[in-house]
Amino acid sequence: MIEIKKIENIYCVGRNFEGHAKELGNKVPSSPLIFQKSNSTINFSEKIQVPKNKTIEHELEIVVLIGKDGVPKNSNEAQSFISGFSIGLDLTDRALQGELKKKGFPWFAAKSFKGSAVVDKNFQLECPKEFYLNVNQELRQRGNLKDMIFSFEDILVHISKIVELKKGDIVFTGTPEGVGPLESGDQVEMGFTNHPPKKLIVI
Ligand code: MG
Repeated sequence: MIEIKKIENIYCVGRNFEGHAKELGNKVPSSPLIFQKSNSTINFSEKIQVPKNKTIEHELEIVVLIGKDGVPKNSNEAQSFISGFSIGLDLTDRALQGELKKKGFPWFAAKSFKGSAVVDKNFQLECPKEFYLNVNQELRQRGNLKDMIFSFEDILVHISKIVELKKGDIVFTGTPEGVGPLESGDQVEMGFTNHPPKKLIVI
């Protein structure tokens, strides 16, 4: 397991699974769609705080950790920049995101709020293929690496065309279908299949 000292930038990929792009009525992009969350939104705790009077949705994602500074130019180079893999929730204020999208505004406020970047801080050296999210012991989301439109390496090469990667950056790599609301009192379990899950409670 890898010990995290400090998170730098938080990058996210939108619409990286066809099933999820379709469930929100979006087309599959021809290159990775990148956005950011503020790094003050990182949430390694066992609690998810849902802002009052808001509907917050879970997006289950594999999170990759960047282990060095630099600009990978191709997939081979990009592989050496990944130092770990974990599971996270890209929490989203879906109604606000819809309003912002309609106006052509950035999604920032719909993605960046206190505790909205939920991450299991137990990063692993190898990435298992399957991952899942249970809410109140019911399966809500299940993902498999083979269904990702853009690989981890594609994503890192793409981000590097925009900005240099930094050690301590993390990347949320896209959610499979099944996104939905979280409510106060929900018991959440997220993890790689056949690995111990991270358990959280929604308050
Ligand atoms: Mg997402």
